[in-house]
Order: sequence, then structure tokens, then C-alpha cells
Amino acid sequence: QPVLAVVGRPNVGKSTLVNRILGRREAVVQDVPGVTRDRIAYDAMWRGRRFTLVDTGGWEPDATGMRASVAAQAELAMATADAVLLVVDAAVGATATDEAVAKVLRRSDRPVLLAANKVDDERLLAEAASLWSLGLGEPHPVSALHGRSSGDLLDAVVDVLPEAPRDTGQEVTGPRRVALVGKPNVGKSSLLNKLTGEERAVVDAVAGTTVDPVDSLVELDGQAWRFVDTAGLRKRVQTASGTEYYASLRTKTAIDAAEVVIVLLDASEPLSEQDLRVVTMVADAGRALVLAFNKWDLVDEERRRQLDREIDRGLVRVPWAERVNVSALTGRAVRKLAPALRTALASWDQRVPTGQLNSWLSDLIAATPPPVRGGKQPKVLFATQAGIRPPTLVLFTTGFLEAGYRRFIERKFRERFGFRGTPVRINVRVRE
Ligand code: GDP
Repeated sequence: QPVLAVVGRPNVGKSTLVNRILGRREAVVQDVPGVTRDRIAYDAMWRGRRFTLVDTGGWEPDATGMRASVAAQAELAMATADAVLLVVDAAVGATATDEAVAKVLRRSDRPVLLAANKVDDERLLAEAASLWSLGLGEPHPVSALHGRSSGDLLDAVVDVLPEAPRDTGQEVTGPRRVALVGKPNVGKSSLLNKLTGEERAVVDAVAGTTVDPVDSLVELDGQAWRFVDTAGLRKRVQTASGTEYYASLRTKTAIDAAEVVIVLLDASEPLSEQDLRVVTMVADAGRALVLAFNKWDLVDEERRRQLDREIDRGLVRVPWAERVNVSALTGRAVRKLAPALRTALASWDQRVPTGQLNSWLSDLIAATPPPVRGGKQPKVLFATQAGIRPPTLVLFTTGFLEAGYRRFIERKFRERFGFRGTPVRINVRVRE
């Protein structure tokens, strides 16, 4: 469900307003089980529309560096929410801090609403109107304390909230884009030919350059796929004709152009540094990944055991990758590629709703709290999946989380929500 973040200076009445929104008779309130007792995310409903309300008052700074930290709060709200509500104290008027925050929020591509709080009686309506000067549109006068006009404000809120959370990834139109990469002679052209049928002309030219068509349309398992940057492969020109630098540049270009990457590995030979570099490149680029072990027809029992050890040792960065053992020569298991691509892409596209994410995380952290550092127990205040393609989590915490603990969260997150074949990014924002 969509997320509304409430920001503003301390003492403007943010928390009172949040309570007012949650506590109204008409608003059905249900706590999102927060991650700690400093709960800051709540499920709210207005006019039948559910949304998650995030009270960034949880990050309220001490007196030091207030303007900067309120601006940071606004930035964070913009990064995680579908709409932002800025609360200003109408009795005080716009302060320099309010103006600094408004300036940050004016750059937002999300809707921003302005609440002029503490309008306890008619006389303050003029003060409220003066807040037009913040450049955030119409100020909505409210009195969080007395409940005045908060219904009108909520009407405005649900009007700007999207029906479903926004997608941060690019639109997917047409066939999904696949890159087929791997070191020279691993069997890339052979596999592409096998996939397209050696003689059949199913390999259509798409968006070619003047000389070479760059991509190939390939039908696998009843679905069209766009194999990017395959000109060299189809013509068997081979990257071997260039330097290693050139080959690696070409690989990088193909990975960047793709949504999902098949890294082809030669199962009959030891995994090489070069193989691991390509795999790392895919993970770093944030693309979905399928590892295809080719030349499986040459693999015997002993080689298989060896390979398992090499994988355990070498592919530690990507234990989550989808794996298929194929032979471009015999066609073995080649039809398993399409399902693996689909699984990886489904995870790459997947978004876990904020409420679900936080209730799962609160249980996980209650059972296994983060390690104490410097005598302090870091707390996780709130989490949100800020992006997809690849899935990206943002955790707001009161202290540094060790890499080992972040990996633990990632592993459990993958298990719980079924993320396979995609990198998952976890960003930690520590509340100052
Ligand atoms: P590329 O450089 O990655 O495009 O590799 P090629 O497709 O040109 O293949 C290199 C060599 O490996 C060729 O001699 C292929 O016949 C051979 N090859 C490719 N796939 C397989 C396979 O699955 N099994 C075996 N035994 N040989 C293969």
C-alpha cells in the first residue's frame, strides 16, 4: 500500500497530527508492528483507502544542526514515500528551517502537501494563508489538537496518494532483455544457435545499426526474448578477435543493456578468475542472474564433485543465482533456461509491501537482535523496500549494523519472500 511520510520541525505538532489522523473515529487504525517500541510506521485508512503513515518525528534531532537534519529527514521521506506531508506551525509562520525543507521538497517528483497546524481558531487563517510563500501550493489549515479540518486534509492526502505503490524501475515493454555472456569458447554462439535452431531463421534482426543488427529476438518456451548485443555471436566473429579489454567492455555493455544475464561457464574446466569477474560485474550492475554450466556432456562424476567445490569457494558472492547445467552441443536441459530466466526476473521485479516487511522484520529482530557495538544495541526503526530492479531495502536504524548481520537479514529476507536469481541491496541509514 502507498506510503505517506510526515515531516517538519520539532514542536510543530507532527506527532499530535499523526495521532489525530490515526485516532479519528472514522479512521480505522491498526498498528504496523513496528520494529522496536519507537514505532514510527502505522497502517491508516481514510475513505476506504489504506495507506502507511510514517512519522519521521522518530528522527527528531537535538538542537544541534537542526536545519540540516530536518532537510535530511525530508530527503529521506522523498526517497521512501509516495507522498510527503510537511507540517508547519501557522502560529509561528515559516521559519528558515521550514524554508530549507520546502526547498528540498519542491524538487520532489512525489506529491507534497502542506499542513498549516495550530490553526485553533479563525483568526489564524490569515497566518495559514501566508504559508503559500513556501511554494508548495495551498496550505491546509488544521488544528491537530482540536481536530479542526483534519478530515479535509485527509481528503487531500488520499487524493494525491497513488492507488498502488509507485514502481521505480523502468517500464517493461516488449520482450524482456537478456544478455548471454561468458569468456571466449565457452559456447555462447553454440548455445544461441541451439536456442534459435541452427537452420531456422527465427533469429530476427531488431534495431540494427547500419551494418549489424545488434539484438536477436528468440522464442523460448512460448515467450519472445530479446537477446541483446548478439551481433558478434551470430556471425561467429568472436570477441577473441579483440583484446581482453575490448571483450570485457563488450560484456559490460551487454550487461548494462539487459534485465537478466545468462553467464555461461565451462563446466568441463576449472572456474577462472575471468568467470568470477563477469559474475561480479552482473551482481554489481544489479541485474538478475542465471548461471548456465555448459559442456555438461563432458562432465563425469569426479569433475562434478570438483565443480561443486569450486562453486562453494568461488561463487560466494552469488549463492542466490539460478543455476542450470546445459549442453549446447547435445541440447541437454536447454529448455530449462526459460523457466530460470522467468524466476530470476520475477524476483527482480518483486516488491514487498511496507507493512508486511516491517512485521516480518520485527519478529526476526526480536528473535535475533543485532550484535551490540560499543556497549549499545542498535535498533532497527523502520524498513521499506524503496526500489525494484533490483530489489532495494532501506533500513533506518539507531546504529551501525555489521556486514554479517546485514547478510543475515538479506538471507532471511530471501527465504521469507522467495527472492531468487536477483541481487538484493540493503542500505542502512543511521539516525544521527
Ligand atoms: P563462444 O566463443 O562462447 O561463442 O563459443 P563457441 O560457441 O564458438 O564454442 C566454442 C567451442 O566449444 C566450439 O568448438 C563448440 O563446438 C564447443 N562447445 C560449445 N558448447 C559445447 C557443449 O555443450 N559441449 C561440448 N562438448 N562442446 C561445446
